[in-house]
Amino acid sequence: MQQPTQPRVNVNPNDLTDIVCPDCGDLNFKQVVRMKKLSALLSPDGQEQVISIPIFICNECGGVPEEFANQLQGGTQ
Ligand SMILES: [Zn+2]
Repeated sequence: MQQPTQPRVNVNPNDLTDIVCPDCGDLNFKQVVRMKKLSALLSPDGQEQVISIPIFICNECGGVPEEFANQLQGGTQ
């Protein structure tokens, strides 16, 4: 039996950096889905398409931290 070789990382939660809401400083987030429309002109099959993008928003004010907002711009930055 071969175990998948995943390095086990022992992480102390106290060492981690919290992601906080830039607007209200809240630490709790919830996942929602952004919906985008791909126009028929850009769509490969010529049909208008709806694309869903999961994103995290602040549980208090709905603000989107930069870390998550980058996901909406294609990720790599
Ligand atoms: Zn907030």
